Amino acid sequence: MRTVDWRMLWEEHAEPGELRRVLCALSVSMGGDGGQTTNCAPSMARLGRRSGMRRDSASKWIGVAETFGWINVGRITGMRNRYYATVPKSLKVQMEQVEAKASEPKPKPTRKFRQAKCPECGAKLLRQPDRSSICESCAHYVAAPS
Ligand SMILES: [Zn+2]
Repeated sequence: MRTVDWRMLWEEHAEPGELRRVLCALSVSMGGDGGQTTNCAPSMARLGRRSGMRRDSASKWIGVAETFGWINVGRITGMRNRYYATVPKSLKVQMEQVEAKASEPKPKPTRKFRQAKCPECGAKLLRQPDRSSICESCAHYVAAPS
């Protein structure tokens, strides 16, 4: 996903602030596509410096981000962790519901019944069972349309 879309989501939904701080620090290394092509693999020490946290705090909040589903962590022995932007499952379900609703065909507007007016006085015509009408004011009779 695009880093910018991902960032908009966690700016709004990630709690607490420490979580946003590490996500923000990560996003700096992600390139535009959430780490798909850019190798997003900053060291914990660097994430700590960027987020203004101790290294072990940054590490803890990275773990929280992974648990919550804000990131995927690629782990290869002997290499630094690689991070990918993801959307928490609960949020994804919510978003899909919103999208599904938005793409639902809109119900056809019901044809508004135009109230017929008496040609003599302009008052309301009362429709009779045989589809003829009688003016409620002057009792002018309008034959049923053929
Ligand atoms: Zn009338």
